[in-house]
Amino acid sequence: NMEFADRVQRVEPSATLAISNLSSELEAEGIDVVDLSVGEPDFPTPDNIIEAGKEAMDAGHTGYTSSNGILELREALAEKLTGQGIDADADEIIVTPGGKQGLYEAINTLIDDGDEVVLLDPAWVSYEAMVKLSGGSLNRVDLSPYGFQLEPGLDDLADAVSDETELLVVNSPSNPTGAVYSDEALEGVRDLAVEHDFAVISDEIYERITYGVEPTSLGSLEGMEDRTITLNGFSKAFSMTGWRLGYIHAPQDLIDQAGKLHSHSVSCAVNFVQHAGLEALSERTDDSVVEMREAFRERRDMLADLFAEHGVDVPVGDGAFYMMIPVDDDDQTWCEEAIQEAHVATVPGSAFGAPGYARISYAASEERLREAVDRLVEGGFL
Ligand code: PLP
Repeated sequence: NMEFADRVQRVEPSATLAISNLSSELEAEGIDVVDLSVGEPDFPTPDNIIEAGKEAMDAGHTGYTSSNGILELREALAEKLTGQGIDADADEIIVTPGGKQGLYEAINTLIDDGDEVVLLDPAWVSYEAMVKLSGGSLNRVDLSPYGFQLEPGLDDLADAVSDETELLVVNSPSNPTGAVYSDEALEGVRDLAVEHDFAVISDEIYERITYGVEPTSLGSLEGMEDRTITLNGFSKAFSMTGWRLGYIHAPQDLIDQAGKLHSHSVSCAVNFVQHAGLEALSERTDDSVVEMREAFRERRDMLADLFAEHGVDVPVGDGAFYMMIPVDDDDQTWCEEAIQEAHVATVPGSAFGAPGYARISYAASEERLREAVDRLVEGGFL
């Protein structure tokens, strides 16, 4: 009779799991499900990256690396971050097996039992889970009334944070809304962080997937250099979800602490994957990134038009590849029925702290997206 840790028991299994289970069951019955629930680009990893991974394996890069990652990659990342206005040094970076691990390390390095973490809802599901695992307490600010945008100087945020706040998580471009926050909004965040002396995790994993806007890195703002953890990864920008590669940049003292967690848990990110990551950062990958971004943009515009044609008012973000569509108040039931009856898989908004919405991912072909909208319309879901 094993007794499980409270820490783990207070975390819910991923809300997307129920959806993907239903989806698999239907597919096993031979039913064609349009799956718009997934959070990964539907493109292959660019060839030059795959080649670099193979070459690295052939060259024998198959052992452990230094725990925080190979120096060449950390140097390249420091240069990249410096280019976006963050004064970064290779020593202030930990290369992680996926951005998720970086987030886990940052949160667990900062948060003790009862420490307050503020999230901007709707927020990516794993933030909540990780805060709960760390023992922190959640304080959530709902951006749904503002079309999911973080308005500059938003009173709701100013009212929520206090000297008790330890950490705020900002994710722009956002999963699940696609919102990209303006410079003014980020400056407002900075002012609050400085006033109340809290740290901010800036999750910039969708930074390369934006449409006509240049996202600003929070860590580049004056006053943020000593309190920002910049989180990023290769999954979304380079369609490398299964390679598991990400990184955090933070002030040296945080990196020193987080490095202990890193070395005693994962040891290091996969050696040849780090070499492939170095290639991914080179300009040889730029054309592929632009191609994927343009495909996402076309799909986003097409979907926005289709929803508008059907009289559905959908807030359209300037980044990432998600949209939150307004559905019934009971979004969980709506999503279950949409799968069962219309065979379209989406994720209930309540999983992200936004009941009454469903998240669709447009990392799917235009044909499949049209098919999904047709099915939802025919089934009376829209
Ligand atoms: N942050 C956000 C907002 C995400 O959506 C994801 C993936 O879904 C991640 C971080 C982590 O991605 P990965 O661990 O694949 O780098």
